[in-house]
This record gives sequence, C-alpha cells and structure tokens, in this order.
Amino acid sequence: MNADGKKRLADDCFALPAGVDWTPVDEALERLRTRLETVTSTEVVPLMQAAGRILAEPVTAKRSNPPAANAAVDGYAFAFDSAKAEASLPLVEARSAAGHPLGAPLAPGHACRILTGAEVPEGADTVVLQEDCEVSSDKVRFPRPKKHGANVRRAGEDAVAGDAVFSAGQVLNAADLARGAAVGLSEVSVRTKLRVAVLSTGDELIAPGAEGPGIFDANRPMLLALGSGMGAEVLDLGICKDNAQDVRASLDRAAQEADALITTGGASAGDEDYISQLLSDKGQISTWRVAVKPGRPLALGTWQGLPVFGLPGNPVAALVCSLIFVRPALMALAGAGWVEPQAFTVPAAFQKSKKPGRREYLRARVRDGQAEIFHSEGSGLVGGLSWADGLVELPDGAAEISPGDPVRYLPFSSFGL
Ligand code: AMP
Ligand code: MG
Repeated sequence: MNADGKKRLADDCFALPAGVDWTPVDEALERLRTRLETVTSTEVVPLMQAAGRILAEPVTAKRSNPPAANAAVDGYAFAFDSAKAEASLPLVEARSAAGHPLGAPLAPGHACRILTGAEVPEGADTVVLQEDCEVSSDKVRFPRPKKHGANVRRAGEDAVAGDAVFSAGQVLNAADLARGAAVGLSEVSVRTKLRVAVLSTGDELIAPGAEGPGIFDANRPMLLALGSGMGAEVLDLGICKDNAQDVRASLDRAAQEADALITTGGASAGDEDYISQLLSDKGQISTWRVAVKPGRPLALGTWQGLPVFGLPGNPVAALVCSLIFVRPALMALAGAGWVEPQAFTVPAAFQKSKKPGRREYLRARVRDGQAEIFHSEGSGLVGGLSWADGLVELPDGAAEISPGDPVRYLPFSSFGL
C-alpha cells in the first residue's frame, strides 16, 4: 500500500530474467499471470447496477428459488394419493393464483383451481393441465392417467438457500443479475473500477477530425473503448508530443489519477521514443521482445508504482497487443483473475504459408462457418481492423494452411469489444 491506500505493484514486477531475448507468447502471458495481482478495493453496489462489475467475494443464495412449490401450468391441484383410484374430485371454491395463495391447506380428497406460478397448497402435490381435465360446476374429472408430482416446480429446484451461486472474480452479466435476483440478492460486494489511463504519443498525431496535416489519432478511441468494455473507468490523457517534458507530465498525471496506463507510440528504443527513455531513466522498464506478429517490443514498466503498458503506435499492432496481453493483465489488476479469451476452431477459408518463430494474429471474420482473413497483412491498414470480427491465431511454429484446415478463431466479442 502507498499513501493513498492503494495497492501498488513492485517496481520490478515486469523484469525479465537476464539473457532473455525473444519471449514466446505463452511465456509472456504466464509471466504476466504470475506477477499481477488485484490492485482495486471493494465497494457494495445495488444488484440493479452490478452488470459488468467484478465480484469481490463468493456469493451464496439468500433464499431458495422457488421458495415454495408452485404450478408450472394452469390446471387443477390435488394430492396424488387421495385421487389415485378416483376419476374425479370435488372442487373447493377457493383458487390459487400467482401472488394469491389458497391461504389454507387443501381439504383432503379435494382439488383446487390453480394458475401458473401459483403456490401449490399444503395437502396437494400434483397438478393436471386444464386441457386434460373435464370440469363441471363443482367437480373436476381426470379422464387420462395422472402422474405423481406432475407440473409442480419443487421448492428449491433452482437453488437452495446457502448454495454457492457466484465465485469471487466473476464478472456479472445480464443473466447473472437474473440469477442473483432470483436467490434474493439486493446488493453485491464488487471490486472498485480499475482506473485505466490512455495516452497517445507522437508529434505527427492530431485529434480525430482536427484541421491540418497529421495522422488522426486512431488508437485513443480504440483503447478507451476497450477499457470501458472491460468495465474500467477510463481516463483520456489525450495526445502527447514527442518530448520528455510532456511525456513526463502525462506519466505523473496517470500515476496520480489511475491504476494503470496504456500508451501507444514511443515505446521503441529510438531517439524520439520518450516513453521508454523516461521509464528507463526515472522509472522501471522491461522491454519485452515477444515473438508475436504484429507487434514490436512491448514496453512494460512502472512509473511511481503505476503499471505502464507501452504499445506500438501502429493501430493494428496496438489492438492485437492490447487484446492478447494488456486486457488479461488489466483484468487481473481489476480483480477478475486470469481470463482466457473464448476461442473457436473453425475451418479456414484461406491459404497461407507461415514461417516459424512468431505467433501470428490475422484480422479475420467468420462467414458461412469459415474464417476469412483480410486481403492484406499491411500493418497500417486500420480498415482491416474494422472489417474483421476477430482474429485468427496461427501457432508459433511453421504452418501450411489450406482452405478447410482447422484454425483458431478469437472473436472480438470474447474480448468485450
Ligand atoms: P511509433 O510506434 O511511435 O513509432 O509509431 C508507429 C506508426 O504508428 C507510425 O506510422 C505512427 O504514425 C503510427 N501511429 C502512432 N500512434 C498512432 C495513433 N495514435 N493513431 C494512428 N497511428 C499512430
Ligand atoms: Mg511515434
């Protein structure tokens, strides 16, 4: 913990062992997985507002669902044993409707009208569908064979009070909110939102739509959306010029106001690469030469204890690296543990010969059950990112892929995009 009560990572958390050169993707991920820990604290929020939040502790059912046996259909309820031999039973006057139970046990040897969702009264255990009954003014007849317990939803058949319902670190989705509500939760203890700052660096960059020459900053809206999509509170640090003073001011601000910083551009070892220069002079940096394409070295470092993810400026490389490395790292910092993207094996709709050495990610989409890839691997083509619905991941080794061969497809949706 530091002065503001926030947990900070050790400065050397990203350090690489001496002599490490190109790191395979799996090894880089394993290193992140073992070194990162939760930095967020906890807060209690209403269940109604808990979508996308990360649970801070395991949750058990407060109440059984359903709390009492109820009817699955509109029909007639009775005790199976009392009616076994009888073809018909006298009807009581009262009925059981959803939210309006009978209010008393069912008189022995009788049946009652019951509606879907209504409590099955004490003394009854079976419901016959109304279409299978013949009803006269005060009697119900069952012409067909009856089945003990039919059309009754048992108390606790969905959940029993005390059952484990959610685990710590689980990210709650819309379906989970239904589950939580059904077992009696009104509020949940969740992780505070991870505060993620995003900074673009480069003298050539201008804000999207701004007048004048320059390259529109494409990375910032992309990375801010990625951060929001994973449930973080994002901080837009804008565009920073390639000079030490401005970059330093941005790093200082991020260290004050955020839990993690994603920067793009300036992460290499060139003269104008101030992110790496400053981190190595005044912070901690470890340049990870991950064997991945696209993606130049990732600069992983800390600035006053703030984890900094320095990505390549090229938007294609920036997106691939942020999905494959930064997102799981941020989820771990946020308290969700290590999350693997959901992958599917689908037949390729393309031909490709891949050299050994680097794991490769291709802009891809699935059409008619087959993975298509973008017509060009040009790393400057932002249009290909938008054309794609996901990535095809090709293995570290050499590969010869022909149409119909199985390939691994990672939809953008499995990264919350
Ligand atoms: P860098 O990593 O700074 O050497 O940048 C690599 C390439 O990506 C250069 O062509 C930059 O102009 C481009 N680039 C850097 N940052 C961005 C950005 N935020 N949006 C679009 N292109 C960028
Ligand atoms: Mg640059």
